[in-house]
Amino acid sequence: MRNIQKKVITTETEEIVSYQCDNCGSVIPITDTIPAPGLLIVQLHGGWQMYFDSSSSVSCDFCEVCADKLLAAFPAIKKAIGEAD
Ligand SMILES: [Zn+2]
Repeated sequence: MRNIQKKVITTETEEIVSYQCDNCGSVIPITDTIPAPGLLIVQLHGGWQMYFDSSSSVSCDFCEVCADKLLAAFPAIKKAIGEAD
């Protein structure tokens, strides 16, 4: 037989409450766990023959304005096959 007692356990967790653009510093709010539209999250992990080694990674967050400016230097973004225009 097991005697059971209910306990309330409080744990501390971390959650993202906002993002900050790594280019201009503007704060990008989160509403109901959804970041503002236009947030660009970049996460790169290094590897063999890459610019940085496998023990390194880079993580950057950009607001919509900065993302547009940064991506403007690249050719037009193409839609995935099967997506409507
Ligand atoms: Zn920005």
